Parts: sequence; structure tokens; C-alpha cells
Amino acid sequence: MPKQPQPPRVRRQPQRTCVACRDVAGKRTLVRVVRTPEGTVELDGTGKKSGRGAYVHSSVECVQKVVKTGGLSRALNAPVGTEVTEQLLARAVADDSNK
Ligand SMILES: [Zn+2]
Repeated sequence: MPKQPQPPRVRRQPQRTCVACRDVAGKRTLVRVVRTPEGTVELDGTGKKSGRGAYVHSSVECVQKVVKTGGLSRALNAPVGTEVTEQLLARAVADDSNK
């Protein structure tokens, strides 16, 4: 059997799935929400907080969708407070207007 040529190894940026639309995207276009070891849910602007993370597009459409469907709470297995929701929305609105 002839050896198949190996595709060149490309170093890609990490891909994550948006919990709202299930699209896979680079980490940079997504916002990380994390459930900390203490059980609180926080917005993770740096992407470095420890805990269970879920990702959502920084767009109003996707944020509203996870809020409506509760997909974020489900992904994190923890209730997402209104404060986090508001922070997410504020960020999405800012990012949307920057497009
Ligand atoms: Zn999305």
C-alpha cells in the first residue's frame, strides 16, 4: 500500500462551538462564560479563568438565543444570573456595532 501524503500540519487557532447556533468558530469571535469551582457563573473576558466554560458568539442574535432557550445554563449546568446576561448582551451590542 502506498503511503498517503500527509497534509501539512497547520497550527490553527482553537475552535470552539457556540452554544446558541452550534457553529464552530475561532475563540476570538466567541465569549467565554465560565462556571467557577465555587459554582458561580461569570463572564470570562480573558479566557483564562478556571472552571467549566461555554462559548457563545459575541453577537446580539446568539446571546438572545441562549438567554431565551436557556442553553447557557444547560451547557454550564448552573443558573446564569441576570448580571452575566446583561454583561453578555452589552458586550454583544458593542461588538455588533463595531462590525
Ligand atoms: Zn452563535
